[in-house]
Amino acid sequence: MIRVENLHKHFGGFHAVDGASLEIATGSITGLVGPNGAGKTTLFNVIAGVLEPTSGRVSMDGEDISGLPPHVLFHKGMLRTFQIAHEFGSMTCRENLMMVPGGQSGETLWNAWFSRGRIAQEESALLKKADEVLDFLTISHLKDERAGNLSGGQKKLLELGRTMMVDAKVVFLDEVGAGVNRTLLNTIGDAILRLNQERGYTFCMIEHDMDFIGRLCDPVIVMAEGKVLAQGTIDEIKDNDAVIEAYLGT
Ligand code: ADP
Repeated sequence: MIRVENLHKHFGGFHAVDGASLEIATGSITGLVGPNGAGKTTLFNVIAGVLEPTSGRVSMDGEDISGLPPHVLFHKGMLRTFQIAHEFGSMTCRENLMMVPGGQSGETLWNAWFSRGRIAQEESALLKKADEVLDFLTISHLKDERAGNLSGGQKKLLELGRTMMVDAKVVFLDEVGAGVNRTLLNTIGDAILRLNQERGYTFCMIEHDMDFIGRLCDPVIVMAEGKVLAQGTIDEIKDNDAVIEAYLGT
């Protein structure tokens, strides 16, 4: 689904991504690991259009998407979550979900005035969808809770829920498990697996927790110093001497 070819991202003279090439297969949950400073987040940001590549190519289903901005990629079904969840704290969980989809009739003043019936219909469809998403994520009991009151892990779940409000094809998760307790981590893991198996989502996730990676990801791609160092199953990369050395060297 996603092909990255000889990608470079330089900050001044510093090569944060230094000729990385990789593929994310349709239907996979691909893990991206590597020591701090390996270039994982920068790579994510370039793929997801947050940063422009210095050189190289990113394609999605064969179409060149290098340098396209996030809102264009969003409409192609590519979403990215952030390490720090971006919820609207004073709104409820349900309202946060209802904020996501674009292209609603009420977005223009003209439509807001003339198409009130349609807007009401769309709103009730959105409400239904938001409730379905909360149910899927097993957090229905939080629907009227202000998002600002959620725990860190619950915010991550809500962020995952936001990807379900649109027809996402490929979702990039940045440390969705960081700072989350085991129970909630399992809930997040279950939701990712079900989205993958039942809804056909493709995932690429940066993660540090090797148990979490091992449970969800195949393949796992290892980055070090801006390059792809190895790729394989979790057991293969755990036994790879170059990978062990890269981790020990930090
Ligand atoms: P990782 O996610 O693997 O920890 P990053 O992609 O965050 O790695 O960072 C890779 C390297 O690029 C780091 O050394 C970091 O300091 C540097 N870097 C990241 N963003 C910038 C930036 N905007 N300007 C300068 N250097 C940056």
